Amino acid sequence: AGEMMMDQEHCLESLPLSQNSFRELWESVAAPLISTIPTVAEPSETWAVPGQMNMLLMNEQILTDGFDENLFELPPEMSTKDGVTPPSSTVPVTTDYPGEYDFQLRFQISGTAKSVTSTYSELLNKLYCQLAKTSPVEVVVSKEPPAGAVLRATAVYKKTEHVAEVVRRCPHHQNEDAAEHRSHLIRVEGSQRAQYFEDQHTKRQSVTVPYEPPQLGSEITTILLSFMCNSSCMGGMNRRPILTILTLETPEGVVLGRRCFEVRVCACPGRDRKTEEQNSAKTQNGTKQIKKRKSVPVPDAPSVKKSKSASSAEEEDKDVFVLHVRGRERYEMLKKINDGLELLDKESKSKTKTSVKHEVPLPSSGKRLLQRGERSDSD
Ligand SMILES: [Zn+2]
Repeated sequence: AGEMMMDQEHCLESLPLSQNSFRELWESVAAPLISTIPTVAEPSETWAVPGQMNMLLMNEQILTDGFDENLFELPPEMSTKDGVTPPSSTVPVTTDYPGEYDFQLRFQISGTAKSVTSTYSELLNKLYCQLAKTSPVEVVVSKEPPAGAVLRATAVYKKTEHVAEVVRRCPHHQNEDAAEHRSHLIRVEGSQRAQYFEDQHTKRQSVTVPYEPPQLGSEITTILLSFMCNSSCMGGMNRRPILTILTLETPEGVVLGRRCFEVRVCACPGRDRKTEEQNSAKTQNGTKQIKKRKSVPVPDAPSVKKSKSASSAEEEDKDVFVLHVRGRERYEMLKKINDGLELLDKESKSKTKTSVKHEVPLPSSGKRLLQRGERSDSD
């Protein structure tokens, strides 16, 4: 297996710099290699068209049919581990339930300064924190819970399409951790009595600590949570928003109270909170003006991401991705495709510099290739 790094300089060293050579490159390298790709589904007729790699690239369907889609998804190690058990049908409840003990949470006021490592947005009911940094969560009850009561923290994906999947740490962060509970996203710090659980059937993970009555002169109990992956971690949360569920339970596991809040683990909690609060305010203003739209999307992280990616769509997508490829031949082929695309980028850049007014490019296959490539990059 090889790794394909999108290293522009390296790619360009070995390649000629003209559009014609690029076509030749396709036609010389793509055809023979394509025929050696083991087809995942049924042997497709489309593969049998030699020398037409340009057609191939323009047809996304062929690409997704012919390639092992898992290459672009989770590492195989994860999918096999979890593949044994079907996705859980038991979805944790995420509605607030104060119960007879009037169970409530409070967060310390931390503001949105650059240096802040954990901050809570009242407006969005969302905690922003840095990876592995402690977030104090204050627990308030109206009367003493039964002896042996525990507090349990569980993470769950916020969106319906992800909710069936168990929230776990990404393979990278699990691998570099020796702790027994290294696969758990949520940890409770500062307590020797924290216990880590994985449900036998649902595989969902949670952590508990015994409920401790407030210290003398105080009315709150504080627990310290930390989140051990970034929201963006590949193969883990992978930019999917999560909720944290805190429950107050009897020793037998009967829920006495429940509170939920969204969590985003990121490098700049202060900045992200500020941005998302501002965006939420804008969205709500927009709702008032445009009353025709009945279903307005809930203001959350994805809406921010969308507007960002939309504005940067015309600009260049500079993110660098690492692709794990099984088999040397496949790797070589994908690398050549990438080399070619890099070459096209480079060429189009030098062209726009010299002739800015030439807006509509000639319908050469090379140009259409480029447009397709750009669109799929910014997805
Ligand atoms: Zn991670």
